[in-house]
Amino acid sequence: MAKYPFEPFRVKVVEPIRMSTREQRAARIAEAGHNVFGLRAEDVLIDLLTDSGTTAMSDDQWAGMMVGDESYAGCRNYYHLREAVEEIFGMPFFVPTHQGRGAETILCDLFVQPGKPIPNNTHFDSTEANVLVRGGVALNLPVPEARDPASHHPFKGDMDVAGLRAAIQSWGPENVPLILLTVTNNTAAGQPVSMRNLRETRAVADEFGIPLFFDAARYAENAYFIKLREAGYAEKSPLEIAQEMFSYADGFVMSSKKDGLVNIGGLFGMRDEALYGKVTVEMILREGFLTYGGMAGRDLEALARGLREGLQESYLAHRIGQTRYFGEKLVDAGVPIFEPPGGHAVYVDARRFFPHIPQSEFPGVALTSHLYVDAGVRGIELGSLAFAHTDPETGETRCPELETVRLALPRRVYSQTHIDYVVESLAELYARRESVRGMRVVWEGPYMRHFTARLEPIG
Ligand SMILES: *Cc1c(COP(=O)(O)O)cnc(C)c1O
Repeated sequence: MAKYPFEPFRVKVVEPIRMSTREQRAARIAEAGHNVFGLRAEDVLIDLLTDSGTTAMSDDQWAGMMVGDESYAGCRNYYHLREAVEEIFGMPFFVPTHQGRGAETILCDLFVQPGKPIPNNTHFDSTEANVLVRGGVALNLPVPEARDPASHHPFKGDMDVAGLRAAIQSWGPENVPLILLTVTNNTAAGQPVSMRNLRETRAVADEFGIPLFFDAARYAENAYFIKLREAGYAEKSPLEIAQEMFSYADGFVMSSKKDGLVNIGGLFGMRDEALYGKVTVEMILREGFLTYGGMAGRDLEALARGLREGLQESYLAHRIGQTRYFGEKLVDAGVPIFEPPGGHAVYVDARRFFPHIPQSEFPGVALTSHLYVDAGVRGIELGSLAFAHTDPETGETRCPELETVRLALPRRVYSQTHIDYVVESLAELYARRESVRGMRVVWEGPYMRHFTARLEPIG
């Protein structure tokens, strides 16, 4: 196989990029309060804000959109989706939701209890917020290697199983309503979770009688990492690996906007019929009837087809290879990144990129702002703006251990030339890093402030 497998598709439709000048971009980012969420997408040249919902669909998926059955109940596309879900995830019960957080909201309503912990390898931001608003405790238990940007551990997404057991014993198993595992571990730099870790986490769940759910947005990328890196899986197909992964779960919530290869949608699958009964009530209150769950029939069809495409080996080889190419070129250019590159994104280590800017002055936001002005590239800060917590009693602010800027790769959208341009732009910014100043917040909301906060450069 080539070192970096070529795109296993050719381009049939193109969307022009609107060019802009540095001066125009400087004006736009100031208007947006130096928060890249406030930009118009048309003012971005290369958009690496997220891999969520930004996929280019295949001709087969678009063809599927034309055979959407928009019946309120029992549309044919639901049954196509059900076949795919049963085959891949092996769950006897499932509902579609409008997106991942639709499933997550229902899961949290049914499981999260005030003052009680939900352990997870690392909570995704919306999951963490969903636990916190219900008064729960979002317990993050990544393996220690996850905190070390230089460690080349093959499965830095793993749950700290000993830490999990200790936490359950200290809280008391009756006080732990649910264990979550996020595959791949998005917040910890998109790092994969090993099959062995899934199995060991399952054993802890069984030991204490606690349900185990996967937050499974990037399950196919995770399956491919297991194939590449874990002994005994090289000859298995991504589908077979995914089937084994989900055999260790009592259920899963999933955003279809990632490995489902669609622009909108979510899934909620489970084994327990009694739980399904409760979910159906919540579904009808919030999402919609059980066979469409907030999605159009045509979107269910695109997802049924996308789930299968997302497990194709040629697709995954290119996908993971492209992210690796991006990461390796940045390392070659001397740009400090979180190593090794994960599945869906490269995470620049903002603390090492701007060692002169303290975490309290948002080095990650300085990076996203300057990268946009210099090159029209949009990344996202996942550091102190996204994750710092202020203790309501002491008023003290605790910054997260990792201060990163995520450059996420939309699926099947950008070419190697686009990536080379981003690498050059980052290398140039790194070369003049000492001229860059920190930032201060001028406005923020109470939860997930990184989506709406406004900032300004200091001094
Ligand atoms: C995207 C994502 C979600 C939320 O899904 P949405 O479709 O954006 O609502 C939850 N967990 C993880 C790990 C995700 O990546």
